Amino acid sequence: MRSPAAAGEPRALEAFPRRAGVLFAEDVSLAQIAEAVGTPCFVYSAGALVAAYDALDAAFRGVPHTLCYALKANMNLAVVRTLVARGAGADVTSGGELFRALRAGAPAGRIVYSGVGKTDDEIDRALDAGIKLFNVESRSELRRIDLRARQSGVRAPIAFRVNPDVDPKTHPYVSTGLRTSKFGIPISEAMDAYAEAKALDGVRIVGVDCHIGSQLTRLEPFADALSRVRSLIFELRAAGHAIEIVDVGGGLGVRYSEERPPDAGEYAAVVCKALRDLGCEIVLEPGRWLTANAGVLLTRVLLEKTNDDKRFVVVDGAMNDLIRPALYQAFQTIEPVGPPRGPTRPVDVVGPVCESGDFLAKDRPFPPVERGDLLAVRGAGAYGFAMSSNYNARPRAAEVLVRADRFAVVRERESLEDLVRGETIPREITG
Ligand SMILES: *Cc1c(COP(=O)(O)O)cnc(C)c1O
Repeated sequence: MRSPAAAGEPRALEAFPRRAGVLFAEDVSLAQIAEAVGTPCFVYSAGALVAAYDALDAAFRGVPHTLCYALKANMNLAVVRTLVARGAGADVTSGGELFRALRAGAPAGRIVYSGVGKTDDEIDRALDAGIKLFNVESRSELRRIDLRARQSGVRAPIAFRVNPDVDPKTHPYVSTGLRTSKFGIPISEAMDAYAEAKALDGVRIVGVDCHIGSQLTRLEPFADALSRVRSLIFELRAAGHAIEIVDVGGGLGVRYSEERPPDAGEYAAVVCKALRDLGCEIVLEPGRWLTANAGVLLTRVLLEKTNDDKRFVVVDGAMNDLIRPALYQAFQTIEPVGPPRGPTRPVDVVGPVCESGDFLAKDRPFPPVERGDLLAVRGAGAYGFAMSSNYNARPRAAEVLVRADRFAVVRERESLEDLVRGETIPREITG
């Protein structure tokens, strides 16, 4: 496969260009993909994944760093593999994500494990694999990891996830760094927690971790959090702790519509200003930033209807496929795959799920559509398929990966049989 970045050609990649009125994924027509694979279906651009990875990597070129892709944004094996092939490690939040990261070929030595509720089984698997770092989110978890590691005769490399109590100014459901959040330990209690860890034989202190939220579109919360982390590192070192790694988490926002998030260079400047002179390795956990705009959700118009004066476009994709609009009132651009059929009028684009919250767009100016028209929902590469479900007994969508003029189905559409897999009817109980 050709890779423009690998060939050293700095070609600006437009992942989803419009050519002769028709929307493409790289060099493949989205209409052709829909024809071959059906709808709803997620389409990802490998070129866009690589371009995003390379841009962030380049922005941190001056400092030792590891980009640990946060699998929870998009855990498809081929997507993870595309980033791993470029050098990415992985940030995982469950045993399942650890399994996926390893299956996709991520080296254990580049995997970090975050999350407030790690089970013994998950801890054991991560110890077995020999991961780079456990981000410990409480002192009870510290004791659990210490115990399991001693039972396996190993030392677990750890950082505490500290909660710097800054407001990331994002949606409350994706704010994680406030004092009242369930994540991490309060930064004020960090010294005691590190002192406790130092006395344990099953763990080895290697760093500090912090992740304050997702879809951050301003730099100040990052700067505030990191300046607190910086002070903590001085205190920890003064107390004799070896801090070699600072994990700055993920959270860098992307552009869904009118947002003006900082670019990779501006973000890197803030991180490096706070941390560069400390001589630490910087670990980053970007999720959304690498994948969101590398994906679209392709969906087909089923019908149009009008209730009173309100116009609805009913499509075959729904909240079970893409929950962000319903869950976070998130705005994602939707456009027809073909040329617009006329001037726009406000519509709600809705799915067939039996919930009034099942919408992809509300009061959105949209051109006229006909049954069978294809629509593309942009920004669907992160927290799209990953958050999808079988609600309303809807089989989950197919996933497709494109590179230049080739495409492959990287996850088959679920079948009706898939929907009932693992279920039984025990006659002696059901009657
Ligand atoms: C969700 C999450 C990330 C990724 O966040 P993005 O906003 O997608 O970059 C990184 N680290 C942790 C601990 C997370 O929970």
